[in-house]
Amino acid sequence: MAQRRYSAFALVREAFRHHAGWERAWRDPAPKPRYDVIVVGGGGHGLATAYYLGRTFGIRNVAVLEKGWLGGGNTGRNTTIIRSNYLQDPSAAIYEKARGLYETLSQELNMNIMFSPRGVMMLAQTEHELRGYQRTAEANALQGIDTQMIGPERVKELCPIINIAGPRYPVLGALWQARAGTARHDAVAWGYARGCSDMGIDVIQNCAVTAVRSENGAVSGVETTKGFIGCAKLAIVVAGHSGQLAEMAGFRLPVESVALQALVSEPVKPCMDVVVMANTVHGYMSQSDKGEMVIGGGADGYNNYTQRGSFLHIEETVRALVETFPMISRLRMLRQWGGIVDMTGDRSPIISPTPLGGCYINCGWGTGGFKAIPGSGWATAQMVARGAPGPLAAEFGLERFREGRFIDESVAAGVAH
Ligand SMILES: Cc1cc2nc3c(=O)[nH]c(=O)nc-3n(C[C@H](O)[C@H](O)[C@H](O)COP(=O)(O)OP(=O)(O)OC[C@H]3O[C@@H](n4cnc5c(N)ncnc54)[C@H](O)[C@@H]3O)c2cc1C
Repeated sequence: MAQRRYSAFALVREAFRHHAGWERAWRDPAPKPRYDVIVVGGGGHGLATAYYLGRTFGIRNVAVLEKGWLGGGNTGRNTTIIRSNYLQDPSAAIYEKARGLYETLSQELNMNIMFSPRGVMMLAQTEHELRGYQRTAEANALQGIDTQMIGPERVKELCPIINIAGPRYPVLGALWQARAGTARHDAVAWGYARGCSDMGIDVIQNCAVTAVRSENGAVSGVETTKGFIGCAKLAIVVAGHSGQLAEMAGFRLPVESVALQALVSEPVKPCMDVVVMANTVHGYMSQSDKGEMVIGGGADGYNNYTQRGSFLHIEETVRALVETFPMISRLRMLRQWGGIVDMTGDRSPIISPTPLGGCYINCGWGTGGFKAIPGSGWATAQMVARGAPGPLAAEFGLERFREGRFIDESVAAGVAH
């Protein structure tokens, strides 16, 4: 049954009914014996894949299987930065497609995802970094992506709390993307889930995939904690757990899983209305609508699946940011967490068919895939529907690692998110 639309009228109506009339945002179905497509992973990328399969490609006999709760992986753990200022053409194309879709996603999903195009600046604090960003700005101009290099005075104007004079690394300039910004991460997952459910797609939580079954070299279904479920096609979209799912499907991935951490401060009055990334000192910061300073740091230096924060990273990240934003030295930190990210060698994603027939994979977004969710979901849905990658996904195939055809995004995504 179609969901009632969220609207100002609905809000007023419910205000008079003690908010007793709201429906569940998505159904809670039991799995059917068989689907045309199963998507493993109820994060943003998996849910967006299922949504565009139904909405754009007309395939609605689809299930999304999530081992925990929707958005409980990296989608609900990231620092929500959205930008498309990447260097290489295939990256710029998919991240810009995603950024463009984010602009109208609240209307598309009838869910306020709080997209806030407040502007993102990536500080250049060494000559090397300055040259790297100048190169990216030139590439972006050729790609039709609106970015520009700005000087230290403009940086200070846009973000008065920055210390542009050092002490270790003075701000020499920044790569500025005015239409970049942030969005509410779990609303993105919830909005896609609601949209899926509305189209008759089954979104099934607490359902872990434990094995992949195949017949004659093609996928035939998955074993889950809720029993066997058959399928004609399988899309694996599980970020940091991609290696585990690939092993179940009988192939290996050039991906490492590491914990990436973030933290937030106590809420303070508005003091910063842009997003700033300081990649030389290795930290970045924005202010949430609640007033908390949202602070992101680095990834663990060793592979692991811990999905939690550590004292080492608090110290390292806060120390780095105090140099750039001295005022945060007086803030108390509220909470810290980690997510398991999937890192490829060239810091670009994998959207690809796999050696198992009918099985596709979307992974490798590493520290920066939140921004890509709508574009990645769209491109993956197209690949699954047609059986082969379309133009947006074509360059991101698994074969590039064998052929040495890397899409090097170490400047855009090696540290930055
Ligand atoms: C601290 C941190 C900060 C970040 N900051 C940013 C940022 O500012 N901007 C940005 O663009 N990106 C950022 N990222 C990266 C971004 O969060 C991820 O790239 C993105 O969310 C990946 O989404 P996903 O849907 O692929 O994965 P996830 O959201 O992790 O979803 C995968 C899902 O698969 C499920 N799953 C795993 N195994 C199984 C199984 N066997 N059966 C069923 N389900 C399974 C998991 O439970 C999980 O819910 C950050 C990440 C972290 C951790």
